[in-house]
Formats: sequence, C-alpha cells, structure tokens
Amino acid sequence: MKFVYDFHEGNKDLKDLLGGKGANLAEMTNLGLPVPPGFTITTEACQEFLRHGTHVPGLAAEIDEHLAALERKMGRRLGDPDDPLLVSVRSGAKFSMPGMMETVLNVGLNDASVAGLSRQAGGNDRFAWDSYRRLIQMFGKTVCDVPGDEFEDALHEAKAAKGVKDDVQLDADDLKALVTAYKKVFVKHTGHDFPQDPREQMDLAVAAVFRSWNADRAVLYRRQERIPADLGTAVNVVAMVFGNLGTDSGTGVAFTRDPASGEQGVYGDYLANAQGEDVVAGIRNTLALAELEKLDKRSYDELMRIMATLEGHYRDLCDIEFTIERGKLWMLQTRVGKRTAAAAFTIAAQLVDEGVIDLDEALTRVTGSQLGQLMFPRFDLSGDPAPLTRGIGASPGAAYGEVVFTSKRATEVAASGKAAILVRRETNPDDLPGMIAANGILTSRGGKTSHAAVVARGMGKTCVCGADEMEVGPDYFTVGAQRVDEGDVISIDGTTGRVYLGEVPVRPSEVVQYFEGDLDPAQANDPLVAAVHRIITHADEKRRLSVRTNADTGADAARARRFGAQGIGLCRTEHMFLGDRRELVERLILARTDAEREDALAALQPLQRADFLEIFREMNGLPVTVRLIDPPLHEFLPSLEELAVKVAVAHEHGQRVEHDEQMLAAVRRMHEQNPMLGLRGVRLGLVIPGLFAMQVRAIAEAAVALAAEGGNPRPEIMVPLVGAVQELETVRAEAEKIIADVIGDSGVEVLIGTMIEVPRAALTAGQIAEAAEFFSFGTNDLTQMGWGFSRDDVEGAFFWRYLELGIFGISPFESIDTEGVGRLVRIAAEEGRATRPGLKLGVCGEHGGDPDSVHFFHEVGLDYVSCSPFRVPIARLEAGRAAVESEGSDHR
Ligand code: PEP
Ligand code: MG
Repeated sequence: MKFVYDFHEGNKDLKDLLGGKGANLAEMTNLGLPVPPGFTITTEACQEFLRHGTHVPGLAAEIDEHLAALERKMGRRLGDPDDPLLVSVRSGAKFSMPGMMETVLNVGLNDASVAGLSRQAGGNDRFAWDSYRRLIQMFGKTVCDVPGDEFEDALHEAKAAKGVKDDVQLDADDLKALVTAYKKVFVKHTGHDFPQDPREQMDLAVAAVFRSWNADRAVLYRRQERIPADLGTAVNVVAMVFGNLGTDSGTGVAFTRDPASGEQGVYGDYLANAQGEDVVAGIRNTLALAELEKLDKRSYDELMRIMATLEGHYRDLCDIEFTIERGKLWMLQTRVGKRTAAAAFTIAAQLVDEGVIDLDEALTRVTGSQLGQLMFPRFDLSGDPAPLTRGIGASPGAAYGEVVFTSKRATEVAASGKAAILVRRETNPDDLPGMIAANGILTSRGGKTSHAAVVARGMGKTCVCGADEMEVGPDYFTVGAQRVDEGDVISIDGTTGRVYLGEVPVRPSEVVQYFEGDLDPAQANDPLVAAVHRIITHADEKRRLSVRTNADTGADAARARRFGAQGIGLCRTEHMFLGDRRELVERLILARTDAEREDALAALQPLQRADFLEIFREMNGLPVTVRLIDPPLHEFLPSLEELAVKVAVAHEHGQRVEHDEQMLAAVRRMHEQNPMLGLRGVRLGLVIPGLFAMQVRAIAEAAVALAAEGGNPRPEIMVPLVGAVQELETVRAEAEKIIADVIGDSGVEVLIGTMIEVPRAALTAGQIAEAAEFFSFGTNDLTQMGWGFSRDDVEGAFFWRYLELGIFGISPFESIDTEGVGRLVRIAAEEGRATRPGLKLGVCGEHGGDPDSVHFFHEVGLDYVSCSPFRVPIARLEAGRAAVESEGSDHR
C-alpha cells in the first residue's frame, strides 16, 4: 500500500484517498497554479493508525523519501539551524469538516533554527520569534493537549505588561520572552520540554492530526452531517509560506461567487500581516477582498485570474485560501465551496444560463434538504420593527429565542423545549453542541468566513456574525446603552443580518408561496423562485417515481395537491375518530349487544362518508388510498390510571358512577402489555364485527356520490398490519360484497390492497399479492418490527449510544435501513410482482419523504412514495435526482 503522495501525483478525483484538501492541492499543482510544494499522507494511513494504535509499518520510510524530495525542491532542510525549511501539517478529510480537526504551522522551528528563520526574513527577529511562539502554542494545544487558555493568558499578560492592545504591537524581545513563558506552560502540563528535534515535531504533529479524527467535536460534527465514522483524515505536509512577514504580506479567503446569494463578484476577506487561521478564526476584523486591489494590485490581479481559472475548471463556485508572502501570491487551498440553500439553487440555474452545465447536472447540484430549508418561514417586517443592531447575514433564516451565552446553556434551554439564540464574541469548535442545539447563532466578531458562519451554513442554521456594535459580556451583551441579559428574547435575520429585540412574527417563505401557487415564477422578480421553479420542473420531467401525500383532511389534501402531490398514499382513518366523535367510538366499544354496536356504527358511518367525500373531491381524478382503522381501540378510551382514581374516589364518597365503572371495566378488559403488537390493524377488523364493513361502505358511497356529481373518484382501500394472506382474503371477501352492492353501475372502480409492514408479510409477499392489487410499505412498523425497536420509546431512550458506537449513522426511523428493512422491501417488491406483474407498489412510512430513502425506493423500483404535504416538493426533487443519477450520469 502506498501511503504518501507528492502533490504532483494526485488529482481532484482522489478525495477518498487524499482528502478534499490534498486532492485539490494536487489538482491546482497540476494546473500550474502557485501552490507551495508538499505531500499528502493518505486517509488509509490514518485508518491504519487508528486501527493499530501508533505504528503504521512502512509509513516512516515513505515520509522520509517524500520529505527528502521536498527538501531538495526547496533547497533547504527541515529545521536546519542556518536556513530552515518549515512545514505546515494540516488535516484534510474527504468531506470538509471546518475547524473540527487539527493543524500545526511552523513545524521545524527550535531554539537554533529561529535565528536561521530571522536571517531568511532579512534579519526580521520579530517575525521569527512570533512564528516560534505560534508553533509552541499550536503544538502544545493540538499535539499535547495543553489547555489553550494558558497560552492566551500568557499572551494577554505580555500585552498588558507592555500596555498595548494588539499582538502586532509586541516586539522581538517581547515575543522572545513570550516563548520562554510558553515553554514553561508546556513543561508544566506535559512534564517534558518542548521537543527540539524537527522531525520528531513533524511525526508527533502527523499523529495528532490522525487522532483528531476521533476528537469529540469531530465525532459530533460527523454525526450531524451524516459523515461515515471510518473514513479517516489525510494529512498534508506543505512548505510554509508566510503571510506575517510585514505589511506586504497577508492571508485571505475568497469565493468565486457570493456563497449566500450566488451572485458573481469579488467576495472574500483579507488580513494583512497575518498567518494561517487568523482570518477564519475571526480574531481581528478583516478587510473586504476588493480592498486588496489598492494594497497589492499585482497579487490581486493574479488572484482574479486564478479564480476565473478555478471556476472554469471546477465548473462551480470555488472557495479559496491564499497567502501573500512579500508580494508573491500562494494558493493554500481550494474546493467547491459550501453555500446556502438559496445560493445552491441560484448558482445551479446561473451556470445553466452560462452554458457551463446542463439541467440534469443542475439537478444533481441541489438537494431535497436544501429545498426544505428554503421552505422555512421568514420574518414579517410589516410592523417595521426597529433593529437593535446589525451584523453580517451569514446563514439565512429567521430565528428567535432566549439569549444564551454558552454552549452548555444552549443545550439546556433546547432540552427544556425552548428556543435559544447562542450569542458569542466568536465561536470555536468547542461550541458545536450549543450551535446544534440553538435556533440561531449571533456573534460580534468575524466575517462570512468565520467559524460560526461556515459551520452554521453547513448545518442550515440561521447565523448573523460580526455585529460589532455589540459588547459581549459573560451573561449579557450591550449595544450602546441597551443591555440584553441571558434569557431575554431576540430575533435574528440571517439574510439581512438584522437583530431585533423580542420576538418578530414570521411569514411563509417565497418558495412556499410559489408552491402554493400564490407567486408566479415568470412574474415574480425573484431569482430564487425562478431557479427553484426551473429545477423542480426538470425534476418532474425526469422522475420515474410518483409522489403522493399522507393526508386525512380535505385541507391537507388540497395543500399537498398544490405542492404537486399526485394522489394520497395514506389516509389514516383513525384520525377521524377523535374530537367530538370520541363519544361514538366509546359507544361502539362499550356496546353489549349486536344492536347497540350496530347503532354506534350506523352513527359513525355518515360522518365517515362525509370525510371521504371531501377528500375525494380535493383529489378528484387522482388515486386516494384510504387505510382502514389501525390502532388498538383502547387508544380512544380514557387512561386506565385516571379512570381508576376517579372511580375509587367516587366509591370513597359512597357514590355509584355507572358509566365510569363500565368504562373502567372495558379499559381493563382491553389493556395490553404491548399494544403495538396487540389487537390493532386487520386483527381489529376481524374481531369487531361491522367495523371495517362500515368504513368500506362509507368509502364506496362517498365515491359514488362524487361520481354522481360528475367527478372522477379513484379510491383504494388499504388493509393495515396484514401478516398472512388469509387475513387479507377474509377482509377482501366481505369488502367486495359491500362494494358491489354500493357501486352498482356507477362506473366507480375500487382497488383493494394492503400495507406491507409486518416482516412476515414481506416474506410471504408472493402469496399476499394474490389478494392485493397494491402494496404500500409501512416502513415505520416494518422498522419497528424488523429491528424489534419500539418506535415510541427507543429514539429518546438509547439511540444516542447506538449513534455514538456507529451501529448506525442515522436513526433507521428517519432514513431507511437499506440493508435490513430495505431488504424486506426489496424481497416483497420482487416476489409480489412475480405473482402479479401489474402490482402497484408504494411507500407511506415516514421514509417516503426522506431524501436518501427516496433514492433507495427509486432503485428498488417502487411506483410512488408518499409523504406529508410539506415534504412533497422535497420528494419530487429527490425522485428527479435519483432518476438522473441512475441514468449513469457522470456528473458527480
Ligand atoms: C407505517 O407503519 O409505516 C405506517 C405508515 O403506518 P403508521 O405509521 O400509521 O403505523
Ligand atoms: Mg403502520
């Protein structure tokens, strides 16, 4: 196995092996762009390291070889006292994980080579000592777990002693003294001196980067972003170039388009006389990139040329990190840049207009979850609320909540069910749990590329940063004379950057208004709506899967239809047994004679017919799958405990409460230890005479009524929880008689099919298909029974541990477990169709609206997915993407 690749040996398609940073450094090197020389240690080396502990056989020898080549190229030896080569050791995984893993700069400096570095820099002692103190600080924190605060404190003391505010005001002697102080901090925590051997520094730094793959924050970030836990990170060893050599040097980040709106232009930040992470860390306020033109026109022009080259080459928005060392531009990183959901759509549409990509590829550049983000509400500013202050709109959305100042407090507030806004001077990777828990993030420092901004955009979380009128204290912040305390409510607008005191009302997003039909994309002067319209229209043209909705009211059905639903895949009739109808259901359950039961059913029947007629009307011409009642009947009765107490108290007072006593007896009779596995679904229909018959009659009568109005009803009756074909046959025989009786010669056609949600049903699907005209996979129950996980209990109880252990990367109730539960779906689909070739197949579990699951259902060959109304557009988009991707497109 080859573990180390020179930049000349790689290319952008080797991200699995070289990580994103390494692959793109190689790509830029091969494009002839000015990249400092270096090499990449592969993700496989990291995997080996993490598997076996410390030693990866053969790795050291390969590093020797590549380091020697690098030294030859640079004409310098690592850490040579007279003329040292210094390197950076940087993490770089396949998927970008901003700030999650480690980087060490200036490796190779020691007590001797610091003088050599000063000579290289033309006798610049200040620069050399500054570089050395940074190495001890980064190395101490990253490699040896020295608390970073202690270095910060020492730096503060040095500045305070001198009476200055900025790091740059410390001179060479101050920094030399700081190095001594830092070394003391180092010894105190590690029990040994800061290592002077340059190669030992490098090896320890490489091992620390490997280990940082499993740092808590990296694990948490991966879980959040669904990045597999076993990929490992690559390590890039790169010859140092210096942005901190004086005012003719600096470092910056740039985007080829605005990552928030997608507009073309000059976007980025620049910080003169600064090194490495200073820009992204948001420590000092940066200059807009356009200002660089005035400072260093030659470098600026070259950067613009390179940005155009990169965009042309990657055919997408790129983000870039660069350093200028004494007027010479160096490229430190590029990648296809992260962007907001809105920018993803507008950029994809722009690139189509520019002829760079076609619509198929545009479709693969956006995701259902991005579309979901665009459907969140926005602030309603019609009341013209005065903003408290303003920052940079770094990640769009409208969020309000209680102000909190620590990550810990954010998680506490969120756990209590309330919304929190995390307010910080700037965030760092340790704030990640709070950023996940909070509704939004507000910082007083840093630009669009600060840690807060980058991480929030990645998560689709509202963020305003750099609100620099704010003074952030430990448990309050002020804007001028206005003080805001922990627990006060604020609202932040991640699009405009405005911050408001109190809760600002919200209104629906433009994209939702478009789906509702209230906004004509041709008329609305809104590039986002136009882009969404164009891309989703293309998805509709491409997709093979139909998209239906789960709805059980006329209003939901109507909305889903506006959102593009092509029918109802699941109408849960039990939802029609609640509210003031409960009493009728109680009568049914308490009935002691056939006559009493029939009376109760007769009272329910017209109500059910009216429900179905309303839904059939809204879905006129489209299929509507009505599922016969599913949950155990005792769900419609009062709770056992409450009733028992009530009856006991009455008896205590010598009262007779006949109705309650009867009810209590019924509740006791029907009590089940495992109701989810008890008398529900088809079992209920087989045990309570007349219940399913009443529903079937109501469905058939409603259909006939709509046909009589001139409509086109397409009812499908679905039997829940079937595990054996005999169950279905029994229900079917009775239903067919009723249907024949009701429909007469009205021309109405009623299909009868079943849910496949019990593993036995999936495994005997070939038999069940004899009695079913369609299958709809109930993947909620199929997951529950496939895994043996109680769907109401386990997610809150112990899934966190399963996620931590990597048993699964995401809850199988959220995204289909393709290997297990998915296999049941696959078997049932194949065997069902083998019996009945025209068998219609759909899915109506929660997975029907989950982007990854939609791709799986496409691949298995289902006819449709069904999901809640708001997820209909998401499923349409993902079904289109699945179709384009399975055409074997080479776009990704
Ligand atoms: C299912 O089990 O996936 C399903 C759709 O039915 P319910 O969620 O109502 O049990
Ligand atoms: Mg179910």
